[in-house]
Amino acid sequence: MKKFELHWQILVALVLAILFGIFLKDYIGYVSWMGTIFLRALKMIIIPLILSSIISGITNLGNAENIGRLGLKTIVYYISTSIFAILTGLVLVNIFKPGVGANLNFQEIVELDIESNSLSDTLIKIIPDNIFSVLSNNGQMLSVIFFAMLFGFFITRVGDKHKQMLTDFFNAVFEVMMKLTMFIIKFTPFGIFGLVAEKVAQQDDLIALMQSMGMYMAVVILALSIHAFITLPLLARFIGKVNPRKHFAAMRTALLTAFSTSSSSATLPLTIQSVEDNAGVSNKISSFTLPLGATINMDGTALYECVAVIFIAQAYGYDLSFGQQVVVVVTALLASIGAAGIPMAGLVMITIILTAVGLPLEGVGLILAVDRILDMFRTTVNVWSDSCGAAIIATSEGEVLKVKA
Ligand code: ASP
Repeated sequence: MKKFELHWQILVALVLAILFGIFLKDYIGYVSWMGTIFLRALKMIIIPLILSSIISGITNLGNAENIGRLGLKTIVYYISTSIFAILTGLVLVNIFKPGVGANLNFQEIVELDIESNSLSDTLIKIIPDNIFSVLSNNGQMLSVIFFAMLFGFFITRVGDKHKQMLTDFFNAVFEVMMKLTMFIIKFTPFGIFGLVAEKVAQQDDLIALMQSMGMYMAVVILALSIHAFITLPLLARFIGKVNPRKHFAAMRTALLTAFSTSSSSATLPLTIQSVEDNAGVSNKISSFTLPLGATINMDGTALYECVAVIFIAQAYGYDLSFGQQVVVVVTALLASIGAAGIPMAGLVMITIILTAVGLPLEGVGLILAVDRILDMFRTTVNVWSDSCGAAIIATSEGEVLKVKA
């Protein structure tokens, strides 16, 4: 009998979860623990996985020239796709103007516990002042990556004996982490069932939300779809020589997990596994690009930030000048880089952009109610873009992929 593949198991779990959330709301406590445990298990492995994967990725690249070339390609891909995404959002939000005449009465009374991080602060904090304190914080991934890259790089700079020993050691740790990852991945259908059932059960005012915020949500989702189904596939096809359909199929499990968890970091283990085993990207490329991508390459988040800020401006009746819109584009890019790969991180970063263009921070309250739902879509796009990037970069390095066109 043909094996019932994981993504089908997940799809069945999703459907059952939605039904459970709607019809058996009162019994949600009996199943939500599965989601909690699954998320905890994924979060448990993020730090050791990122650390070992980046260090082994960099040492396997071997020399500064390789690291530099790959690093440059990766950054160019990440920045340019994020800018494409932002521009898509910018155009659509200016065409549809969902904020003009938006029903501000809907505003929930919310305690906004959001501090406005300044941009320079976010950037400075990339350099950890204590490596162990960032290692114990899933929200400080950028600092962990920064340290891991330096550590990996300097392994390539020490004498042969130590270099060999440390390279072998981190390769071994990474292999163990991947085995552990595969084990946790087996439970994905149960985890997703618990997570989604709980989320559905909590959304009792979904219809009301859709009515008041429908236009805004539609613009965000439409723009995300254009980026995910047109822009990225074109890049994958013509620059990466990859068949986008096959690549999408290869990534199904990871994309469904991104959708259900709203966290690129929590999805990272599955992203690595899908990109390597299904798409055929080498470990050398994936272990370098994907952990980096999960933290700094967030096309969906960048697009969302841009649409959200302009929506808020429209709702308050501000007309943003061309110059201010340019500021929105640039800060949306930086905010998406700075956002951690965890649920609702993008929402917090919006305060940076609001400050930059002089809009009231309370504006965040307007979009809070639907943020969780949109988070699912933007996180999926974030992970999809990471995976396309890995494939494009692998092809450019001469690899022949399983998903090649
Ligand atoms: N949840 C998103 C992610 O993990 C970040 C965001 O809130 O936009 O990719």
